[in-house]
Amino acid sequence: MCSSDLRNERGEDSRLLDFFVDELKDIYWAEQKLVKTLPKLARAATTVELKDAFTSHLKETEGHVGRLEKAFKLLDKKPVAKKCDAMQGITEEGSSVIEDTKEGTATRDVALVLAGQKAEHYEIATYGGLIQLAHTLGQEDVADLLSETLEEEKAADEKLTGIAENGINYSAATESK
Ligand code: FE
Ligand code: ZN
Ligand code: FE
Repeated sequence: MCSSDLRNERGEDSRLLDFFVDELKDIYWAEQKLVKTLPKLARAATTVELKDAFTSHLKETEGHVGRLEKAFKLLDKKPVAKKCDAMQGITEEGSSVIEDTKEGTATRDVALVLAGQKAEHYEIATYGGLIQLAHTLGQEDVADLLSETLEEEKAADEKLTGIAENGINYSAATESK
């Protein structure tokens, strides 16, 4: 299938393509929001390990923004961000756990890992669905771009799990008030 099949006889985009592009705008907003939020999470973290995890995922996240711009280009669409209410809420939760936990504690890191994983899981769900849609639409190049990002989101999530398992949760469990 070539992209011309995605337009009807009047040259209009299919409903599914419109929906797909709208969802790309949503995740484009979400990724940009994370570019602003990840440095805050890194600053708030207690351990160097967690700070580094957030900082290295920030670099990757900047790449995710870039890949989405490439995807818009492949689809011949303008890269426009559309507010993602889900990521807005997830990042607000991240800010509130920073307020609710004490600086320099293991509990702060436990809370940040959880907040980070909520963001990653939202992204994993979104990219997983968008990749399926890209295949349906015959947009294999777009699917490839999104798949590269999906792999990095999964790796970031696993890294956070590893950090939690490697002691933060235990340290927090034994931390006095
Ligand atoms: Fe991302
Ligand atoms: Zn959303
Ligand atoms: Fe991510």
